[in-house]
Amino acid sequence: MKDRIVICTSCPLGCRIKVSVENGKISISGNRCRKGYDYALEELKDPKRILTTSVKVANGEIPLVSVKTSSMIPKRLIPQIMSKIREIEVEAPIELGDIILKNIMNTGADLVATRTVRRIK
Ligand code: SF4
Repeated sequence: MKDRIVICTSCPLGCRIKVSVENGKISISGNRCRKGYDYALEELKDPKRILTTSVKVANGEIPLVSVKTSSMIPKRLIPQIMSKIREIEVEAPIELGDIILKNIMNTGADLVATRTVRRIK
């Protein structure tokens, strides 16, 4: 495998961490702390992300509400989760912080509204 650079997002310093795998041996360098080492290892094995997107709203002042996951979810599950999200429609009113979907695909993360949408009818 070629060397790969990952940017650690665990703190604002954003260290550029080099990850290499040769003959099954993982080598990590450029991190300034243990958190960065763990982050790079996770990026290699099972990367995780906060998902931000939007969900359809019925009878709202706007047709979509912005949402995000309450914690990081495995990147590999995002296509399946997005398919599920595209199928749902919530009824206005929606309050900032409302849980739209609980424990998405058993990830432990909820999908949470990041704005308020008032009802119009
Ligand atoms: S490696 Fe440590 S110091 Fe560098 S960005 Fe990550 S958490 Fe911050």
